[in-house]
Amino acid sequence: MSVEIIPIPVKLPGPREAQGYSEEHWQTLFALLDAVTPSIVVDSEVTDGRNQLRITEAQCLEAYERTKRNVRNAPSYEKFKEYLGSRPTNSPAYIEQVKRIIGHLPKSAQRDLGRLLTLLNTQVGSLLATGYRVPVKEQPLHVREAILQSWNSSRLNIFFQLGNSFLKMGRLAYTQIDPLFHELNDYTNAVKDYKPGPTFDYKFMQFPAGDKPATIDVDVVIVGSGCGGGFVDKGYYFPPSQLPMTASAAYEFLYESKGLLQTDDQALTVIAGSNWGGGGTVNWSVCLQPQGYVRQEWADAGLGFFKTQEFQHCLDRGNSGRCPQAWVARKSLPTKHEWCGTLLRPMSSRLWLW
Ligand SMILES: Cc1cc2nc3c(=O)[nH]c(=O)nc-3n(C[C@H](O)[C@H](O)[C@H](O)COP(=O)(O)OP(=O)(O)OC[C@H]3O[C@@H](n4cnc5c(N)ncnc54)[C@H](O)[C@@H]3O)c2cc1C
Repeated sequence: MSVEIIPIPVKLPGPREAQGYSEEHWQTLFALLDAVTPSIVVDSEVTDGRNQLRITEAQCLEAYERTKRNVRNAPSYEKFKEYLGSRPTNSPAYIEQVKRIIGHLPKSAQRDLGRLLTLLNTQVGSLLATGYRVPVKEQPLHVREAILQSWNSSRLNIFFQLGNSFLKMGRLAYTQIDPLFHELNDYTNAVKDYKPGPTFDYKFMQFPAGDKPATIDVDVVIVGSGCGGGFVDKGYYFPPSQLPMTASAAYEFLYESKGLLQTDDQALTVIAGSNWGGGGTVNWSVCLQPQGYVRQEWADAGLGFFKTQEFQHCLDRGNSGRCPQAWVARKSLPTKHEWCGTLLRPMSSRLWLW
């Protein structure tokens, strides 16, 4: 009998405490997040009128048919209804994940969100922010949904950003941990016939606990251990046997700012690796060749190697799949990303990117 190998699970720490958040704060937050991933149920099957949105059987069937046309392995109608009807805020894992996300926010953002939740719990604050005197947590789901929609379409930037933040938070927590969402998307934590990739015997310096800072005498320090080379890194090393991780563990241990890095205006989310290996540990291994003028620029700066046949030979090996790194990715992680890479390469070639 063959035994299925899976990556060694990495234990997640509990959420960091968000200071000053009372039960009322959490209730208001989850009442809003309920509207991000609402439970949608056919009329005749509604069991909780306050916390479910109702649709007709015909609407449900129409949505199912549309879904079937757009996905590869369509779920059964029963599964589809189960998915629509599920309510993430009933799941302890979802609640923990949201609390983990809040716990990782900068203290100032935590405070601002806390103040907003306090405001939403007062009649005046609620009236100002939502147009209703009744606090959000006491509103039925269809009203909470309408409030979120009005924030998202508001011309006032402050409301737009507010709605956007709740949407992102709810979607992030949901897509990271919801088992039914993963099942319907054919998402698995590891590939079929998973085997960990080869490992390298890194020798890390160990620093015993002590009152004084440790001192190392060196001429140059390269901070960061990404593709650009490295020496010291604030992130941790995980051996191939622990990779890939579950989505929630990966955000916790492998990404900069736990994957929550955004531009100040929240227009862009930046995903960057932060661990031993940096982006190279999490990236898709798609290689595009640098254009002639880029190579020339580097050569002019004294890096003549980039104009040589030898460099071209290295690139050709990478692009034919024989580059050790690309090969490792192919053998150990034959995921959809490989398919993306095979699309990206000829397309960028046509665009004269290389
Ligand atoms: C999901 C994903 C997919 C990608 N796919 C591709 C792809 O297919 N092809 C491609 O060419 N590129 C891809 N990239 C981009 C590529 O991985 C990055 O451009 C590349 O890793 C950048 O290398 P780097 O050495 O500059 O920095 P990084 O790899 O980002 O490494 C920086 C390191 O510095 C550490 N660090 C930061 N600040 C400090 C500090 N103060 N003290 C100590 N350590 C610190 C971080 O922990 C991190 O480990 C992808 C990136 C991601 C996130």
